Amino acid sequence: MKSPALLLALLATVSFAVAADKVGEVQQVAPGVYFHQGNIEKSGHCNHGWIVFKDYVLVVDANFPSGAQEIIPKIRKTTDKPIKFVFDTHHHGDHAYGNKVFADAGATVVAHAGVLASMKEHETGAFGGKPGRWEFAAKGRADVRESKLHPPTMTFDKQKIFEDGKMRVELVHLGVAHTKGDGFAWLPKEKILFTGDACVNGPFNYMGDGDTAQWVKTLELAQKLGAETICPAHGPIGTKQVLIDQIAYFKAIRAEVAKLSDKKLEEAKVAAPAIRETLLKNKQIERYVGRVIDAQVEKIFVEMGGQPFTPKSAARDVKFDLPLLTVRPTAPEGFFKTEFK
Ligand SMILES: [Zn+2]
Repeated sequence: MKSPALLLALLATVSFAVAADKVGEVQQVAPGVYFHQGNIEKSGHCNHGWIVFKDYVLVVDANFPSGAQEIIPKIRKTTDKPIKFVFDTHHHGDHAYGNKVFADAGATVVAHAGVLASMKEHETGAFGGKPGRWEFAAKGRADVRESKLHPPTMTFDKQKIFEDGKMRVELVHLGVAHTKGDGFAWLPKEKILFTGDACVNGPFNYMGDGDTAQWVKTLELAQKLGAETICPAHGPIGTKQVLIDQIAYFKAIRAEVAKLSDKKLEEAKVAAPAIRETLLKNKQIERYVGRVIDAQVEKIFVEMGGQPFTPKSAARDVKFDLPLLTVRPTAPEGFFKTEFK
């Protein structure tokens, strides 16, 4: 077993040009900047980043409670500075449900104002209403059952800057993408961008809470920041090429769905497998294509003015919440599970 310090030193020299899965390993991206690829398949976990300032640590994404519990000891191995802030890149459970774990450890939860607004919309159970997404997720996750929603207490509209003369992190909202409240963490000196689910590196694009037309525009704005290293919220770390490929995936699938606009609903409903085959032929975006892309095709079809494939019903709500919280329709082989630890 190599020492953590040696492991980090070795990892620091690895080129990110070729994306490789390093699930569960702490990767030093730059001095004081770390990336950790969560185990999405086994635990539904998102990736983490953390930035070590002179006096404190800022963590990117809170993960599910079990992900937060896993990462805090790993952060402790890289620094003894207090974890003072955790940044939710958006409101989804695999990014924000671990907030309480970090808050209990002394952190303030910071997010774009849209994260709080989306929680108020979907987390009705936590805000005194009928059971919402938290309660739904709790059915399949022990860690959620044992915790509580902790909404962000520090919010921003456009940006929030953390700066101590040595380290600078800009939390920025660039528009609607994966959700209405997506935030990016931008390190201008190191040219590192933590993207949340606005940009992933693999078949993880859940589109149900976003808008794909605006998503492309938001990502094109993000490109203008000039990042050299992309830390996505799912899938391995990569170069700026990840952002280029993610945009290309949206443009390609939107172009395919646009061809359905003059087709009848019945034809559109069964078009996803053929679209999938077409997209898989494009090497640049192949890794973004999931086993099933029906929900993505339907979402874009509706955005373009088409009818939903199924009538709005209670069952449909479950169908749309399910991929979000427990399984993802675009997930790789083996991901479909009903109970997570
Ligand atoms: Zn998400």
